Amino acid sequence: MNGFVHSFESLGTLDGPGVRCVVFLQGCPLRCVYCHNPDTWDKTKGTVFSAEEVVRRVSRYRAYFGEFGGITVSGGEPLLQAEFVTKIFRLCREAGIHTVLDTSGHGANAANLMPLLQETDMVLLDVKMTTEQDYAEKTGGSLRQAMDFLSLLERQRIPVWIRQVVVPGITDSQENLFRLADLLADKECVQKVEFLPFRKLCKEKYDQLQIPFPLDRVPETTDAFCEEYSNRFYELWASKKKKR
Ligand code: SF4
Repeated sequence: MNGFVHSFESLGTLDGPGVRCVVFLQGCPLRCVYCHNPDTWDKTKGTVFSAEEVVRRVSRYRAYFGEFGGITVSGGEPLLQAEFVTKIFRLCREAGIHTVLDTSGHGANAANLMPLLQETDMVLLDVKMTTEQDYAEKTGGSLRQAMDFLSLLERQRIPVWIRQVVVPGITDSQENLFRLADLLADKECVQKVEFLPFRKLCKEKYDQLQIPFPLDRVPETTDAFCEEYSNRFYELWASKKKKR
């Protein structure tokens, strides 16, 4: 079983619990306006690896994984290569390596999704926007699709960390926090919600690819704002959960 890989990050600490080897796969069906990896969009531009080669490479770092670390498969959108990820995760589990899927919930079909979830220990789900209109306009995807995927994770009892990029003027409002807290109020599988600051380090990649960066004029989000935004979210989320 072969797939298209963009790159590896050997010892990441930002994509799931503990120290992890992150495998970025090539190909994505979405076009988020703030995407910092436009070089992953085209599936055919990746390097072909077998699942065994990926796991051999990841296994080199297992001494650093400790109690909580392992592999995170990210993208691009890993669900576009769901069968490849299933094989990678199956081999990882056989080797005792914890498996995390970093996804938007888009790109798989019903037939290849369940086998993958059966090999998945945890999911990082990016809930990109909190209205259907924004989701369609700013990413090309669907909020319904992301929420249906989250409901499936709830039914399968797979632990989830939600993520959202805080973009000034798009996802930095109190209304956005209310809507997100509503969307997550009844989801017991959600253990944590992470707000990530919008950054423009990717601008160079857009220039190299000769693609205009849609948010060129939007200021970056500060870490301090993200922290305060996150605190406000957790208060709201707690009160909504209590009311249920
Ligand atoms: S899902 Fe990720 S890789 Fe795909 S366009 Fe959005 S931010 Fe970029």
